[in-house]
Amino acid sequence: MGATLCLFGMVHSEIALRVERVRRRVNETLHVDLSSVWTFAGAVLLPPALAACVAAIVFTHLWWRSWRPRVPVYRHVFSTATIVLSCLAAAAIAGVNRDGGAVFRGNGSGVVLLVVAILAYTTVNSALVAGAIAVSSPQPDIGKVLGRWDDNLLEFATLSLGAITAIALAINPLLVAFVLPPLLVLHRAVLVKHLEEAANTDGKTGLLNAAAWHVQAERALQRSKRRDGPPGVLVLDLDHFKAVNDTHGHLAGDHVLSAVAGVLRDEVRERDLVGRFGGEEFVVMLAGLGGRAPVELETVAERIRRRVADLRVEIPTPDGPLTVRGLSVSVGCAVMPESGAELRDLLEVADRALYVAKGAGRNAVRMGNPASPRSALLPAHLRPDEPAPAEPPSLHSNAGD
Ligand code: GH3
Ligand code: MG
Ligand code: MG
Repeated sequence: MGATLCLFGMVHSEIALRVERVRRRVNETLHVDLSSVWTFAGAVLLPPALAACVAAIVFTHLWWRSWRPRVPVYRHVFSTATIVLSCLAAAAIAGVNRDGGAVFRGNGSGVVLLVVAILAYTTVNSALVAGAIAVSSPQPDIGKVLGRWDDNLLEFATLSLGAITAIALAINPLLVAFVLPPLLVLHRAVLVKHLEEAANTDGKTGLLNAAAWHVQAERALQRSKRRDGPPGVLVLDLDHFKAVNDTHGHLAGDHVLSAVAGVLRDEVRERDLVGRFGGEEFVVMLAGLGGRAPVELETVAERIRRRVADLRVEIPTPDGPLTVRGLSVSVGCAVMPESGAELRDLLEVADRALYVAKGAGRNAVRMGNPASPRSALLPAHLRPDEPAPAEPPSLHSNAGD
């Protein structure tokens, strides 16, 4: 049985390599690891020492064929050790003795044992991985430590297939062949999910790209009409960003864009939509603002403006770290009026307010007025009511500090 599991584990990895090659073009994460199907089945069927061997063989084959050289040997050894310990925990719970094969009795208690063994396996595995993340990152993020909800669901689906594999193997090893097709379909489903994420994401900042932002903002707008409070939109444009590129180079400019994206994500709630509209222009939709929506929206915008003004972006260069500071952003705001409006109208109002902020000397927040004249769309120096644009500020930097 151990040999059958190793064989199927290796065949699965080999077939999955093609799916992985496509997936890795759009997503940097390592090989999607569904090998728990085989290691878990081994844990509940085989003597513990043999189950540990199956886990080590399947994992080492996967590392050799797919993870090398991005995963160094020590990390591979750590992953294998966590899987072996998870197997031992599942085996202990399932009451597998040194002869193995005790778990599947085909009755109710066998099924309960399998469920408890799945929980033991996944708990030990998650706890060890979470522990490693917690000790290796200076400020562990609880979300990262616990893992994403859909990743945990994938792990549960994999272990369920592992339980079915164990049952099939106990009846007739040939039945295990029926596990391969659903397993490969599961693998492809992960590929599709990653492709979808890549299609919605701006590669430079990790924010939503313009198309995805529009789709999701339209949806949020419909939702807000039904139940949330009025939504608001911020359109943000970095001031004199061209000067950043001209002074420090395009690569430094990219670091700045990514740092500003981080500020935006930090300053709004998880459910708010943050997107990059292109170049150095960003957009945020805040859903469900309370009774004082304009004040709330302006407060968030002001907070973002201040954070960007205080931002110090550390950029590694061959000559030592470079710090870019002296950045600023102009922000235009628009709140959904009581009479309602389309997304397009909201964006237009916020965009006009942005132009007013630029005309007012930049590094400013302006609230849009749905009835403001279209002349506000003219460049600042052609507008009758706006002062001439300010000179670019000097961009401070200190290489090597
Ligand atoms: P303003 O205050 O009026 O907004 O001035 P600005 O310099 O920010 O605006 P302008 O439109 O003149 O220049 C935008 C610059 O943004 C020019 C372009 O090279 C730069 N840019 C656009 N996309 C990217 C990008 O992805 N990376 C980098 N590094 N620069 C970019
Ligand atoms: Mg700009
Ligand atoms: Mg711009």
